[in-house]
Amino acid sequence: MIDKKLLEKWDKEYFWHPFTQMKVYAEEDNVIVERGEGNYIYDIYGNKYLDGVASLWCNVHGHNHPKLNKAIIDQLNKIAHFTTLGASNIPAILLAKKLVEITPSKLEKVFYSEDGSEAMEIAIKIAYHYWHNIGEKEKTKFVTLNEAYHGDTLGSVSVGGINIFHEKYKPLLFDVYKLPSPYLKAIQIAGREKALEEETTKKLIEEVEEFIFQNHQRIAGFVVEGGVQGAAGILPFPKGYLKEIRRICTEYNILLIVDEVAVGFGRTGYMFASEKEGIEPDILALGKGITGGYLPLAATLTTKEIFDAFWGEFGEAKHFYHGHTYTGNPLACNVALANIELFDEEKRLKNVKERIKQLESRLPEFLQLKYVGDVRNYGLMAGVELVKDKKTKEPFPYGERTGFKVAKNMLKRGIWVRPLGDVMVIMPPLSITAEELDYFIDSLKDSINEI
Ligand SMILES: *Cc1c(COP(=O)(O)O)cnc(C)c1O
Repeated sequence: MIDKKLLEKWDKEYFWHPFTQMKVYAEEDNVIVERGEGNYIYDIYGNKYLDGVASLWCNVHGHNHPKLNKAIIDQLNKIAHFTTLGASNIPAILLAKKLVEITPSKLEKVFYSEDGSEAMEIAIKIAYHYWHNIGEKEKTKFVTLNEAYHGDTLGSVSVGGINIFHEKYKPLLFDVYKLPSPYLKAIQIAGREKALEEETTKKLIEEVEEFIFQNHQRIAGFVVEGGVQGAAGILPFPKGYLKEIRRICTEYNILLIVDEVAVGFGRTGYMFASEKEGIEPDILALGKGITGGYLPLAATLTTKEIFDAFWGEFGEAKHFYHGHTYTGNPLACNVALANIELFDEEKRLKNVKERIKQLESRLPEFLQLKYVGDVRNYGLMAGVELVKDKKTKEPFPYGERTGFKVAKNMLKRGIWVRPLGDVMVIMPPLSITAEELDYFIDSLKDSINEI
């Protein structure tokens, strides 16, 4: 094996890591992963860590799963890749059919890409292009929410709303309509205790509806995350919010674009959050969990009505001029098929529902801690917000990296987590056991108390 110290040196010398201040990274010891097994990762020194981020929110059934491994190897022994521009492959066909079967019934067509950001770019381009093709050329604008996160490519950043990530790129972005973050606005008008209640939703929606009433003629789509603003710090929507947005979009002839990149594939105890919320999007973006956390794959699903607007003779040039080199990659599609089968075979949603109950019964314990200002969850994802002053909710100074300090304390306890600023995130693989989740929560409490 390669010398471990050399690996660490080369990591810092050559590899520019995502979302990472490399100066800080260079000064620290970092985990270099060698292998995984179930809900655990192992570093090059053989240290074992519980995967507390589900490999950044995408691992579903655990690492190194025999069935998922086999799906890739079986396909690899046939062909690794061939273009889907004008040709097709078996796993991509079967997966498209499967996705149409398991997503809300209005969604009948599947457009593949490789990452969540691309799935959202495609959603935006399709929505815009759809109105263009049916002759409603003034419908060019998108409604988005403050604190939204839809990925890091420029289109996805344009519909995003997290200042620290997005503000700098403003001159490069297209203009959108921005409405308040439902959770933050709900706290403002109803306080933390009542923020998520249906009464609060009604008040929020009045403002949304007034805005849409004024501007709907120019609006192509309403872009929203599925039930929770994940990257903003796990900010759930008040009860019934998405349903109301669906009603408004239908009423005012606006496409509802739901980004389920983070919450799709079981995170909420339902296969899709749309199902949990009782809505049918016009366009749905999927990513992360789609391959069980194995290979880069994403999908944008649309209704037949949208698809049909692109249907025509070649010379009409109505078709969707978009595609990537690896669109519909057979290895990724084959492992995605196996990932979906495992939901039944391992009764995954049953486990998730039980773990959500367990999580929700224990989350209030965090509110007892001195440096915790707020706790919230949406399904099996939770945010524990660290604050300097519990009463005023004054945050710790940004540069102090309090969240990272707690993450370091977690590492000592054998759990790898990645906070969102000073929000500690509980985002285990969906295969986490009751004992592991208890240990996760106990360790996080201890790690917060240690700062
Ligand atoms: C992660 C994420 C994305 C971006 O997906 P990538 O695969 O990282 O490009 C988009 N939307 C949401 C809600 C996400 O959580």
